[in-house]
Amino acid sequence: MKYDAVVVGGGIAGTSIAYHLSRHNLKTLLVERERELALHASGNPMGIASIYLTKHKSFESDWSLECHLELRSLLEGSEMNLLTKKKGIHFYLNSENKSRYLTAAERLPIDLVTYKKDEFEREWLFFPRSYSFSPREFCQYLVQLSPNLTLAKSVTFENFEIQNGIVKVKTNSNTIETELLFLAKGEDMQKSFPFLPFQKVKGQILILPFEAPETYLFGKYLAPIPGKGSILGASYREFDDSLNISENDSVELLEALYETFPEFKEKSDLKWSARVAFRMQMNDRRPIAGFAPKQDNYLESMDQIILFGGLGSRGLNLAFGTAKHLVSYVLGKSLLPRELMPNRFGSKKKKSSLGTIPQNLG
Ligand SMILES: Cc1cc2nc3c(=O)[nH]c(=O)nc-3n(C[C@H](O)[C@H](O)[C@H](O)COP(=O)(O)OP(=O)(O)OC[C@H]3O[C@@H](n4cnc5c(N)ncnc54)[C@H](O)[C@@H]3O)c2cc1C
Repeated sequence: MKYDAVVVGGGIAGTSIAYHLSRHNLKTLLVERERELALHASGNPMGIASIYLTKHKSFESDWSLECHLELRSLLEGSEMNLLTKKKGIHFYLNSENKSRYLTAAERLPIDLVTYKKDEFEREWLFFPRSYSFSPREFCQYLVQLSPNLTLAKSVTFENFEIQNGIVKVKTNSNTIETELLFLAKGEDMQKSFPFLPFQKVKGQILILPFEAPETYLFGKYLAPIPGKGSILGASYREFDDSLNISENDSVELLEALYETFPEFKEKSDLKWSARVAFRMQMNDRRPIAGFAPKQDNYLESMDQIILFGGLGSRGLNLAFGTAKHLVSYVLGKSLLPRELMPNRFGSKKKKSSLGTIPQNLG
């Protein structure tokens, strides 16, 4: 069978792409090698979609706001009412970061953020219309909301070749023909494109048995799972490829929690469990979205193979909005910032091999 588009990877990146493709009426196949969607980086019971606050206006802060508004409009939509989600995020202001984050907040639209002091005299930036949500449920809902989408679980993508303008996608069970192939393989992205500067980071969260009253960001994060407990996240480590749960990381997480919230200390003997997953980031901390470079000199791209990954520690906020813009760009309907494109990593080489552009053409 032939598809207009095949998407590899059923995490929040791949399902967001598949959703937008199918909304453009493209007959789409989403391929996931696991038996369920979102069992890896996007598999935490709860995650935070927060805006990136930088002291000075930057591409990162602007893009994170753009994506935040896209995601929020979907989470607020009536179709998503069943979703495990919690409205409102508290961002902790301590003496070290207070002036920096107040300056950053001043640049945001007025309805997005307010200042708050709690009964323990702690100071917060409060984002009343931001969310913590279950990324796993989010992925499942996106698939449900997608017309024209076929989901193939327990199917592993192996490789592809392009013959006469048709992409032949080889999986462990068959070969599928398509016009467009999107790769959103999370931690496995580097296998297909080893020359791209991905960094793999191990993250650990704790699942606590009590339900926190609100969602808080305080260097770490605490997010209630309505009716089921809370998530305390996350500790991060580079250069650690093991799935082992680290006692030290758990202790560090709990110490950070009790330092900011001494009132939770009485719950310190309650039993918690831990979860480990790996996220990918690019070495400049921006997602990668765009046509795949043909080779490591980045001079040519493949116009039917598209990459989406390296979403980093704020992937839940960035995935849906970036996917929307990426799909629209690939279909020739809009532009995409160069800051996201894979060939940004080759710009120096590109300049030197092309030489200087004559003034009259520049
Ligand atoms: C512990 C932890 C806590 C986090 N907390 C937050 C948070 O609170 N807020 C936030 O914004 N971000 C958070 N992040 C980051 C965020 O979760 C990630 O950026 C995001 O989930 C990445 O999504 P993804 O779809 O790229 O990757 P994944 O979710 O890993 O999805 C990739 C999918 O591709 C599939 N796949 C791979 N290879 C193949 C193949 N060959 N064939 C078929 N399928 C394949 C995998 O099975 C997987 O399902 C956290 C990350 C971690 C690790």
